Amino acid sequence: MKILLTTLHAKFIHASLALPCLKAATNKMAGIQSVIREFTVNEQRTGILRELISEEADLVAFSCYIWNVEAVTRIAADLKLVRPETLLVAGGPEVSYSAEEFLRDNSAFDFVICGEGETSWQELLTYLVKNADTAINPDAMPAGIAYRNETGIVAARERDPIENLDEIPSPFALDLVDTTKPLVYYETSRGCPFSCAFCLSSLEKGVRSFSMERIHADILYLIQKEVHVVKLVDRTFNYDAGRADEIWDFILAHNKTSTFHFEIAADLLTEENLRRLSRVPAGMFRFEIGVQATGKETLSRVSRKSDPDLLLAMVKRLRDETGVTVHLDLVAGLPGEDYQGFLTSLGRLFPVNPHHIQVEPLKVLKGSPMTEIAVREEYAFSATPPYTILRTPDLSFDEIGHIEELSRLLDLYFNSERFSRSLATVARYLPLTDFFDTMASFMKKETKAVQVSLKGLFERIWHFSEGTLPKEAISDFQDALCYDFCLGEYPSAGVIPSFFSVEWRPVRETLPRQTIDAVLAGVNKPSGSRVRTFTARFTHDYRTTPPTPGLIDLIFVYVSASARGLRVEVFSPLPPFSSSHNPRTSPTN
Ligand code: SF4
Repeated sequence: MKILLTTLHAKFIHASLALPCLKAATNKMAGIQSVIREFTVNEQRTGILRELISEEADLVAFSCYIWNVEAVTRIAADLKLVRPETLLVAGGPEVSYSAEEFLRDNSAFDFVICGEGETSWQELLTYLVKNADTAINPDAMPAGIAYRNETGIVAARERDPIENLDEIPSPFALDLVDTTKPLVYYETSRGCPFSCAFCLSSLEKGVRSFSMERIHADILYLIQKEVHVVKLVDRTFNYDAGRADEIWDFILAHNKTSTFHFEIAADLLTEENLRRLSRVPAGMFRFEIGVQATGKETLSRVSRKSDPDLLLAMVKRLRDETGVTVHLDLVAGLPGEDYQGFLTSLGRLFPVNPHHIQVEPLKVLKGSPMTEIAVREEYAFSATPPYTILRTPDLSFDEIGHIEELSRLLDLYFNSERFSRSLATVARYLPLTDFFDTMASFMKKETKAVQVSLKGLFERIWHFSEGTLPKEAISDFQDALCYDFCLGEYPSAGVIPSFFSVEWRPVRETLPRQTIDAVLAGVNKPSGSRVRTFTARFTHDYRTTPPTPGLIDLIFVYVSASARGLRVEVFSPLPPFSSSHNPRTSPTN
């Protein structure tokens, strides 16, 4: 029996974990030949269909998520029309909790795997191999599978979670995961100890971990493959502080080049965890931390047991005491939180200095306990993926749109880290929450280009800030904006932005050539790279935190080479000529 396992990723950089796990689970089964084909949602549907059909598989299994389910159902419907004899299976979080409804709405599909897949998948294939040409026997159909037969749709019988996760063969040990992709998913545990109403992970009770031996073996494999980013999908990685320490120790002892991304609960961090994390080199670990909201009443209405005060205090310590990159998540539209409440939550995040803040309006996920709350409280939410709220008792449709615009601006200006000094300067004069809130109103009126150049982004924030910041802030902001621009892009004479306040011509003309040559002598210049310099006078030295006031001339060195992006280093023309700023690299330019 030929099996085709497939999915559509949100981005090309992702590598599937679910499909290799299913392939590994049936690796030793006689009569089964499995292939994996991965696509992205941005690819042409007909192209994907042709590739799937060309495999001539007996069964095609789709891994379904909120971002791909609409494309998957359309492709599956076409596939069934072209090859009606092909059995179609759906699995994944987007179909697991509404399997009967999914089968009813999508007649192309024959089976849905509900919940944890490996054992159900293994048993389904065993059943199909044995009963190839006979009608489905409900008594023999494995648990965890919803299906259709001649009389209608049959719900899945409940299946117990796999008790010993080590029984699942490692897809890494079998070399089934595409580790050439820039981002590889990995799991050390399944389940979450918490039960937040808006999250599908709340439906699974308890947490199970792979053994430490298995975890070490898998992590070592990923490290040896030099995977760029290993993203752990564990729902709350540090649910057991000692276990987290043991894994972090192992990574610290063996890692060479990889970055590890963890979803953690900051309020569960211990002193021992923080001690461990203080040894992590900058950039090696990324923590994604769900704040979601800071109102205690709101959190309690969605059964979220987290202490926002402790959580934010721990985030501050992570930033002050460790080199971990910190990403905070907020969800807008939880019960009882109005627009002002949302701004209060957002306003509590800036002072703890995260690297990134992601804001998303609430999604009312099918099967989550939030659905019941949303219906009871008369939320309006989209009936199609991603099921985003349209109106709540506390937020209007317009306010939700405003939050989405604010979120877009946070991505462009805060999360990109390209405006760090400019925004730090703003924060000296007015709260960043007010700045972004006003900017969202301003930008909504602007015409939106599909793609805005970096220079365009700088011009827009300048245009907005000129009319918004207090008078006494303007020149400081302008100076910092020039520095941020110089760090992101070479300001060639023909495209100097309109806000350029810094003196650059006189500095360039008076700086001795020998000084530039002496600086360049210490810069790493790979062969074939292009090297350019730009010199300007600033009112602050932004290479220190906080910036040191006082006029200073700075030399920016731009090293670019194809496929390596742009590297920018900043020097003072006073010897010794060592760059006291972390070089900024950018894949663009
Ligand atoms: S939101 Fe996070 S902590 Fe809450 S149930 Fe989901 S995974 Fe667990």
